[in-house]
Amino acid sequence: MGCSSMAGGHGHARPTEREAALEEVHAQIRRCPLCALCRSRTNAVPGEGSVDSQVMFVGEAPGAEEDQQGRPFVGTAGKLLTNLLRGIRIDRRQVFITNLVKCRPPGNRDPRPEEIAACHDYLIAQIALITPKVICALGRFAAQSLIDPKLSISREHGKPRRMSGILYVPVYHPAAALHQARVVDDLEADMRQLRLILDQELGAGPEKGKHAE
Ligand code: URA
Repeated sequence: MGCSSMAGGHGHARPTEREAALEEVHAQIRRCPLCALCRSRTNAVPGEGSVDSQVMFVGEAPGAEEDQQGRPFVGTAGKLLTNLLRGIRIDRRQVFITNLVKCRPPGNRDPRPEEIAACHDYLIAQIALITPKVICALGRFAAQSLIDPKLSISREHGKPRRMSGILYVPVYHPAAALHQARVVDDLEADMRQLRLILDQELGAGPEKGKHAE
């Protein structure tokens, strides 16, 4: 499957309308006052990628580099993610990348339940506008929030679950692989598994894109 098959036209609202709506959600995120993280952020990090992406990656929360640049996954964990994607023939510009929480928790601490709750509707709005076929949840926080609050990432990584027409794939967070060597092998295996899932879900060629028109 070529990378170009990961972006395709939609059958419903015109791309420009959805693009504008997504940009409006991102503008709201950039000025969001809904939790205390707004006071310590340099930049909110709404996410990046085409509104026509068929695949979304959802991480946990921005780190220091992401906070500086206002872009997701551009620090050390981001470079690992970019390389892992390249390893399964995905160019990060052809998928949509975002986080559960859009502003950096100080000192990279875990996001708090009230911060996840405050940000929840933004992620739901992004998913509703992008309508991806596959959502890859990076790490425990994204997986528990999107798939199942009781999910154990060590037991369920790499195992897809279909809900409301979307295939959710929980995988380890790239940052976990930076800290624990044994996770690297699991994450690489998860990525190979994701590649197989994408080949099955998205079809064999660009012409079999999302809502071919
Ligand atoms: N970790 C995340 O979960 N998201 C980022 O954007 C960077 C690091």
